[in-house]
Amino acid sequence: MPIKLKTKLSLGMSFLFIVILVFGIFGIFYITKLKDDATKIIQNNHESLVYANHMLQALNQISTDSIALSTFEKNLKLQESNITEPGEREATESLRNYYEQFKKSRYNTEIRSRLSNSILLVSEINQHAILRKNEVAQNTAENAIVVLTILFTLLTLVTFTFVINFPDVISKPIRALSEGISAIADKQYDKRIHLEQKDEFGDLANAFNTMAEKLDAYEHSNIAKITFEKSRIETIINQMKDGIIGLDEKRNILFFNIVAENLLGLNEKEIIGNYAPDIALKNDLMRILLVTDNEQKELKIYADNKESYFNKDVFSVTNGEKMIGQVIVLRNITPFHELNEAKTNFIATVSHELKTPLASIKMSASLLTNEKVGQFNEDQKELIHSIVDDADRLLKITGELLNMSQVETGNIQLKLQPVIPQQFIDNALSTIQFQAQQKRIKLQIDEYQKLPKVMADQEKTSWVLINLLTNAIKYSAENGQIHLGYSINDTSLEIFVQDYGRGIEEKYLPKIFDRYFKVPGTHERTGTGLGLAISKEFIEAQKGLLKVTSSIGEGSYFSFSLPLA
Ligand code: ADP
Repeated sequence: MPIKLKTKLSLGMSFLFIVILVFGIFGIFYITKLKDDATKIIQNNHESLVYANHMLQALNQISTDSIALSTFEKNLKLQESNITEPGEREATESLRNYYEQFKKSRYNTEIRSRLSNSILLVSEINQHAILRKNEVAQNTAENAIVVLTILFTLLTLVTFTFVINFPDVISKPIRALSEGISAIADKQYDKRIHLEQKDEFGDLANAFNTMAEKLDAYEHSNIAKITFEKSRIETIINQMKDGIIGLDEKRNILFFNIVAENLLGLNEKEIIGNYAPDIALKNDLMRILLVTDNEQKELKIYADNKESYFNKDVFSVTNGEKMIGQVIVLRNITPFHELNEAKTNFIATVSHELKTPLASIKMSASLLTNEKVGQFNEDQKELIHSIVDDADRLLKITGELLNMSQVETGNIQLKLQPVIPQQFIDNALSTIQFQAQQKRIKLQIDEYQKLPKVMADQEKTSWVLINLLTNAIKYSAENGQIHLGYSINDTSLEIFVQDYGRGIEEKYLPKIFDRYFKVPGTHERTGTGLGLAISKEFIEAQKGLLKVTSSIGEGSYFSFSLPLA
């Protein structure tokens, strides 16, 4: 049965109490005994000595003093009532005897001397008794000293041991507990407290150990959970078709998945934890990935045994306000590229196949309009005209689509040579003449016959100019005006087409050179949104620049430059 701390404290206190009690009882016992002895000496013997002394004095004064006899008588009676020692009774009785004889014959000296002797005998008996009792008292005192000394020594020893050991009973477990608590505060959850005691401190230690065990288990389960989550995320990241690279806030490499590993041609284990710019010194792709301009988005990388295309996206990882790292995602867009290529090839093939039959339809229809072939009524003539118009439109579209596929596949075939601008300007003007007339548009054309030669592909430049003039006509009101003009500097010739039509909203200006882009709300049936995109590619391929300025309601100004030959 374990002793509780409370019991221990009570026992300790009780022990001290008993020590005080025992010492006190013994002390009182001996002091009382000594006091008794002293009292007895005074009562029993000292008084008898006083009586004897009074009797002797009275005996000496009897002849002169009349009251001496009564004094003697009184003290004898007192003595007779204070007989305490062995032999005292007999001595007092003989004293009485001699006293009675002395009263009868007062001057008998023998009786008188016997009387005084018997008084002395009583006195002697009591004196002896005093001496004996004094010895007894001394013995008692000595005994008391011995007993109390032994008791004092024993109790001192026991109390001393108690005083030395008892604080440890409390301070030792408290020390162990406070050490344990500090260890837990330092996350040393494997700390345990081992106390021999089975008291409240023992219970406290057990409770502490249980708590530490639970914390330990909790910590381990947390680590297990985090490890589990980590491997799950790693699996997801590794399963992805996109390359993923994680950097910390100091741009040290934290992780990257298998795709990124293959793309970079680096082994994860070798470079994890390294400073990314250091790796970039030896790795071109890493260098490109770390460049922070967002312009260069599409990357062509040789991967999976073929040319692959990737989009680079950089995400910041934040914790609240603070940036704690970056994730670079290399999105694999090769499948889209492949689809786009297939589409371009398909369009090129279809356009190419359509071009010849369309040209022959157009030619046949045109021939039909010749009076020599035969006479048609007005309705028939109109039908034939619309066949020619539609064939024209279709030819334009197939032409644009063919050009576009050339541009998209990067297969623009240029015949660059010194060209007199007059040639392509004449060609363009004759092509759009009819459309301009139909809309009764006034063409203001600066003199172009003496322009210097330029380095250009005549057919493509002509195509661009036709496209610009067609747009100008298309987006001008009836009876509008279009200005075709030029400017020459040291290195290039600039040709501009200015109209005063609807103009283009500023927000759409950056987009109008994009493929398939049409300004919203433009309900022109014709037009693919490809004209300007192709024109830009054609001009840039000839080392020129295609530019636009426009404001809504006031008209547009398109210009392109070509290097002088
Ligand atoms: P489309 O063949 O549809 O005309 P373009 O590439 O030539 O395609 O032109 C793209 C868009 O730019 C057009 O849809 C039109 O809205 C706008 N645009 C081009 N030229 C002009 C112009 N001169 N005036 C106003 N808008 C124009």
